[in-house]
Amino acid sequence: MSNPCIICVAITGSLPTKTNNPAVPITVSEQIESTHEAFEAGASIVHAHVRNDDQTPSSDPEKFAALKEGLEKHCPGMIIQFSTGGRSGAGQVRGAMLGLRPDMASLSVGSNNFPTRVYENPPDLVDWLAAEMLAHDVKPEIEAFDLSHILKAHQMWQAGQIAQVPYVQFVMGVKNAMPVDRDVFDYYIRTVQRLFGADAPWCAAGIGAQQATLNDWAVAAGGHARTGLEDNVRLDRDRLAPSNAALVQRVVELCGKHERPVATWRQARNILGLWAGPEKEQAA
Ligand SMILES: [Zn+2]
Repeated sequence: MSNPCIICVAITGSLPTKTNNPAVPITVSEQIESTHEAFEAGASIVHAHVRNDDQTPSSDPEKFAALKEGLEKHCPGMIIQFSTGGRSGAGQVRGAMLGLRPDMASLSVGSNNFPTRVYENPPDLVDWLAAEMLAHDVKPEIEAFDLSHILKAHQMWQAGQIAQVPYVQFVMGVKNAMPVDRDVFDYYIRTVQRLFGADAPWCAAGIGAQQATLNDWAVAAGGHARTGLEDNVRLDRDRLAPSNAALVQRVVELCGKHERPVATWRQARNILGLWAGPEKEQAA
């Protein structure tokens, strides 16, 4: 049975800098080039943050607009997902780019601890971000840092705050949040299947050295996989990852090992219930 695996590449994030790995793309042009390589290697979703020129996180809608324009030109068909994560701003600033109508945006529906602080997602902000995504036809990707976030997504779907069956990403290995734990991972999958249906797609991301572990588990279990320099800047203990594409290539090899085809962008859009790019433009 063919179950194509969607590979998402998280190219930049808020934290890693060129000091951690010179391959981390910072400027919009670097981001477009790095994404293009990753797209060619097999990624069909790009998860993006933007940065200021001094590498600090930004939430500037103009930078997001320039990035979206370049990605649409150089990676036609690729699914563009913007981060509404909390490291690049506070409050509604986090969703200021949703009016640009990216295909998707990340959505955290609850709070938890991060390595050195609280990751605050208060209920009124979660409701507002979800409403903006509904209004602009942006599909959320639910970032599940904890089990309760999957159940909260279910409540929001039932209440009509999320249009389609929620697409949940299990995030494991963030210090002070959910560790990489196989029993929990399996329970996450069962919970998604119970709440959203046996065929509901889901994905997983592991942080740091755990990225490869979560990639392997997700591909083997029929889920979709996130990789990229945002979550991990190394290939292994001794080597920095030379590019986002190299990390994508590692997932492509896992797909071969577990006999899963790598999803094309068309297949990925079909699996996620996203309209094809040109159709979306016409509808806008
Ligand atoms: Zn991110």
